[in-house]
Amino acid sequence: MADKGDSIEWRIRAMCERVAQAKAAGLYFFNMPISELRGGSRVLVNGRQMAMFASYSYLGLIGHPRIQAAARDAIERYGTGTHGVRTLAGTLNLHRELEEAIAQMKGTQDAITFSSGYITNLTVISALVGRHDFVFVDKYDHASIVDGCLLSSAKMVRFKHNDMADLETKFRSAPSASAKLVVTDAVFSMDGDVIDLPRLAELCRQHKAWLMVDEAHSLGVLGKTGHGIEEHFGMEGVVDIKMGTLSKAVPSVGGYVAGSSNLITYLRHHSRGYIFTAALPPPQAAAALEALRVIQDEPWRIQALQQNAQQLIRGLKDRGFDTLNTETAIVPLLCVSDENAFRMTREAHEEDLFVLPVVSPAVPEGTARLRTTVTAAHEASEIEQALDVFERAGKKIGVI
Ligand SMILES: *Cc1c(COP(=O)(O)O)cnc(C)c1O
Repeated sequence: MADKGDSIEWRIRAMCERVAQAKAAGLYFFNMPISELRGGSRVLVNGRQMAMFASYSYLGLIGHPRIQAAARDAIERYGTGTHGVRTLAGTLNLHRELEEAIAQMKGTQDAITFSSGYITNLTVISALVGRHDFVFVDKYDHASIVDGCLLSSAKMVRFKHNDMADLETKFRSAPSASAKLVVTDAVFSMDGDVIDLPRLAELCRQHKAWLMVDEAHSLGVLGKTGHGIEEHFGMEGVVDIKMGTLSKAVPSVGGYVAGSSNLITYLRHHSRGYIFTAALPPPQAAAALEALRVIQDEPWRIQALQQNAQQLIRGLKDRGFDTLNTETAIVPLLCVSDENAFRMTREAHEEDLFVLPVVSPAVPEGTARLRTTVTAAHEASEIEQALDVFERAGKKIGVI
């Protein structure tokens, strides 16, 4: 490939140089291949068994025998692919069963599934709002929400993180007759804190705004039975557009929206990310469906997860770490500088803990961190061991 000498060439080179420098310094931790699952929370990486503390599989369901069997049966019955897009020949009974199960769990009339959570936010937000509408987003919302807003060409207004007074001010700046949509994470993906749903729902009611909540890190995590943020606050029915993913607590792939049957009918006929892309493959749809059933049948997993999260958060705080405002399974260890976050990661890896750093621009400058997660699959003793590793590393590097 001959050099073109233009801005595309320059961008590619600049990124490659950054990656090469990080690798040369032994501070590149991304795209690490796992070669084997070792049961519980353990994985094999580069021939070493590591304790996984960076997984989104919050309920420990990856590899669950019932889910594995459902995926295998679906391949036998339907094959590995579909006949195309959902709207045309791609819909299977299985897709409808999955959507009915999601609607039931979320307490709505209907639900629709898409091929990923990212696509779901992109296509649903851009299907709902357009040029003359307003969309309000929390400053810490997930990238897929921001991208959906950009694609929609609606006026995007960002409010301060979890700051309902600021949202109220921003509402007042929009013409009262204009359509308003608020989109927020339920559990914020970098900080692990929970949106103030009671106040948010009240404001949306007052200002006639639609409310869409992304439950990527909330389904299976929040609420006594893992049904998510409405259950957590005891406020069933206040969210108009309940979005989530099938790739985190549910060990598959795909995204969904649950809501009124009119909303879902509209999305089925107006979302470009539904109409113009292939249906979920049968084993993935079957795995997601079975996982929802397992979540109902094994409620102990939700309790174990919530207990493990409390153990990790309390243990870190007791050792002097700043864990921001997390209340959930996403537990940040604030390291402040990128350098310290990278060094903490290297120390942890040397002690066979699989954790990852998050640095700017993914999080604000000066808030670099180890972003750890716990799952229902961790034993209390494994969490204690991890705490000891973090304490040793934190003291050595000067984070605590
Ligand atoms: C992971 C995530 C998504 C994207 O979901 P995928 O199914 O992985 O594409 C969307 N929103 C939030 C908040 C997420 O954390």
